[in-house]
Formats: sequence, structure tokens, C-alpha cells
Amino acid sequence: MPHVSITDILVPARQGRYAVPSLLAGNLEMAVGFLAAAEETCSPLILAFNRHVTPDIPMELGLPLAVLAAQRAAVPVATFLDHGNSLDEVAQAIRLGASSVMFDGSSLPYEENVRQTREIVRMAHATGVAVEGELGSIAGSAVEIGTAQAAPESSFTDPQLAADFVKRTGVDVLAISFGNVHGPYRGEVHLDLERVRAIAMLVEVPLAMHGGSGLDESLYPEIIASGISKLGYYTAMGISAVAQLRRCLAEASSETLAYHHIIAAMVRHFHAEAKRVFKLSGCMGRMHA
Ligand SMILES: [Zn+2]
Repeated sequence: MPHVSITDILVPARQGRYAVPSLLAGNLEMAVGFLAAAEETCSPLILAFNRHVTPDIPMELGLPLAVLAAQRAAVPVATFLDHGNSLDEVAQAIRLGASSVMFDGSSLPYEENVRQTREIVRMAHATGVAVEGELGSIAGSAVEIGTAQAAPESSFTDPQLAADFVKRTGVDVLAISFGNVHGPYRGEVHLDLERVRAIAMLVEVPLAMHGGSGLDESLYPEIIASGISKLGYYTAMGISAVAQLRRCLAEASSETLAYHHIIAAMVRHFHAEAKRVFKLSGCMGRMHA
């Protein structure tokens, strides 16, 4: 199965009204666990690298690791630079072999976001690399767990502006803001799915939701039906990995436990968690879509 781009995976997802998770493959245990789960369930997969979340893993090693995993997978796997914030960073990810990149210009003034995103799209498309842009700002942080605040509605993505942005930049995927937050959700969750439907009506490219973890499982079918095709999923999985690690440490005696036992436990954890997320996303069995 070839190493594919997010467009190859997400255009069929949008047509088939299911989502594909973008899973943060910060290290080898994560990448190996996710890939095994995707192959076991015949699911397409997006392996993401985010240098803000795993700053101790150099991108020069982390991204090629994901690329290698994608190249040897039995299912379609796209590799993805998550939240690239400069032309240089995106260019580096492309040189390292990523099939897809994100340029997050959402904190820039609108016209500047259009200008920089368009420039990056031109460069990336010249080498066959797909680009995700972002419009409207997504609150919270997946790095500093516990700082998430609900975003004000004024920062949500405007549907008309989203249509203009996609047309003028040529992005392949658009990340949108509609009450989703990075990191854990605190308090009551208010997702403006009416807004997602309105954007999906006006924009032809697949829509990405960042902050896709940690929601009540009953919400996912509705979120996906409203028009989300790419589900960024990390924080809840990262937190449950630590709970699993604590159980592991509590159950074994310190004389018999070594680091390789932890590696094995983490691979199993990420494998099991990814299967659960594929099920939530509705992408199991969609490897030929
Ligand atoms: Zn994000």
C-alpha cells in the first residue's frame, strides 16, 4: 500500500461521511501501536508529528520514522506535519518526506493568513504534498495540559470567509473552529455543529477538527455527520497512557520490571486506543475507499 497524502484519504472520507483520525506519532511505541491497529481493522490512518507536543524528539528523526512506517504499511497511511508555523518548517517537513503538511496561520490577520498559506500551497503542490490550512482560532493547548479555556464565539470560523479562504489559498483540507479546544475539555462542551454544516455547504475540501479527543462517545456520530472528515485525536490518549503506566508500575515488583516492559505495555495501549478511535471515527474497513 503506498504512502498516501491526506487528500487521498480524506476526499473518500468526506464522500462516505466518515472521519479518519490524525494520531500523534511522537515516538516509536505510538507509531507501531497505531499501525498495528490500522492494519488489524483495515483502517486508513494519518500519522502526525507535532514538534510542540514532543519537543525532545527531533523532527529529523520523528518524521522519517512516520514516513517509514507509512511506506511499509498494509493500509493507506498519510504522514502529516501538525501545526507547522513557517515556510521553513513546512519546507523541512517536505524534505524529510512528509506527504502532507499543515500551515497554521490562524493567529495572523486574515489577509496575511491567505498570503502565507497560498505561498506554502504553491510550494507544497509543486512536489505533490497536500496542505491543511486553519481559519478561526482553536483555543487551549495539547502541550500544557489543563490550560484549556473555551474559545469565544468571535474566534469561530466564519463560513463565508472559509469559502473565500479555500478558494484563494488552494488548501486541500481546512481546520475550523466551532467550540473545539486543544487539550482536555473543561466544563460543559458547546460545539456549534450548525456552523460546521454551514461551512461544509460552502467549502468543497474536507474539514478537520482539532481537539477531537476527550468528548463523550455519543457526540462523535453527530460531529462526523455535520461534515468533519479529519479528527485530530491525542490528549485523552496521552492521559490514559499515563494511567496505564501507573497500573503497570503498581502491578509489578521493582526487581522484575525494566524499561522494555514499559515499551511493550505502551505499544499495547496505543494499539488498543487507536482501535477505539477508528471505531468512533467510522473508518474501520475503509482501507479501499
Ligand atoms: Zn491542533
